[in-house]
Amino acid sequence: VRSRRESGCCFFREEMNAKARDGLAMERALHEALACEAFELWYQPLLDLKSDRLQGVEALVRWRRGADDWVLPDQFIPQAEESGQIIGLGRWVLKTAVHQAAAWQCVLNRPLEMAVNVSPREMLYPGFVDDVAAVLRESGIMSGTLTLEITESIFMEPEDESRVVEILERLRGLGVKLAIDDFGTGFSALGYLKRFPVDVLKIDREFVRDIHVDMNAATLCQAIIWMAKGLQMGVVAEGVECAEQLDILRQSGARSIQGYHIAKPLESKDVLMFISKNDG
Ligand code: C2E
Ligand code: CA
Ligand code: CA
Ligand code: CA
Repeated sequence: VRSRRESGCCFFREEMNAKARDGLAMERALHEALACEAFELWYQPLLDLKSDRLQGVEALVRWRRGADDWVLPDQFIPQAEESGQIIGLGRWVLKTAVHQAAAWQCVLNRPLEMAVNVSPREMLYPGFVDDVAAVLRESGIMSGTLTLEITESIFMEPEDESRVVEILERLRGLGVKLAIDDFGTGFSALGYLKRFPVDVLKIDREFVRDIHVDMNAATLCQAIIWMAKGLQMGVVAEGVECAEQLDILRQSGARSIQGYHIAKPLESKDVLMFISKNDG
């Protein structure tokens, strides 16, 4: 693996940023990167506030540009969604993350959770639910420990509604939890929360950022947490960067949190060490 990576054939090159606009160069580079394993998953821990233990991790994809040099997903996921390559990339992400979770669960001997981001286009692609079922089966991951994170945009295409509901219900039937990512940023009406089967709201970090300095921000967060509880949904606050924010979220009844205050995304080799240090 090392030598293939060092050959540099598929490193994300600086000029990709500029060329991304014309699409084709990026498409080719993504294709090469998938072929020669230039992607890697990093994992950001989630803290369960009830037990003060690490509840699980979220898988976040990175593209290797060189030794210790990584390209963040905002620079290539949108293009991958546009070109359809998100299908191949997403399959790789799902498989890698679920197998990794199964391996960690085996070592830790507990149901560490794994959250995986899924683009709407990926979820709506024929065969997605079957792929998930196959990965769950072949990995041996503990049941009920996979969460798929989707954004509100998937609820905004009315013609797809019955299809989306069917997909979500089949996923739930497999024991998969469904989380709404970046909750509150999608400009969609809240009515979809009644119509679609979802389990968790992830409060976007935009709402969390100012809760310790701005009463209005704190009130909004509190309201989202109450609403989630009323709907019997779990709630995760993202982007928690300091102890003051954590205190307010704890008082507000948030179930779990994620953010630099707990940990930045970690390389896979550092995850078990982090858990053993922080979980006693
Ligand atoms: P996201 O799912 O909302 O992930 C959280 C992002 O916020 C991550 O950025 C994470 O590194 C960052 N973050 C976490 N805690 C903090 C904090 O306390 N402060 C600040 N300032 N940032 C924090 P990242 O890894 O760059 O990912 C960006 C987005 O790319 C993700 O947002 C997600 O929408 C997308 N993404 C990442 N991996 C995948 C993937 O495998 N598939 C798909 N479809 N999308 C992905
Ligand atoms: Ca996410
Ligand atoms: Ca998010
Ligand atoms: Ca986001």
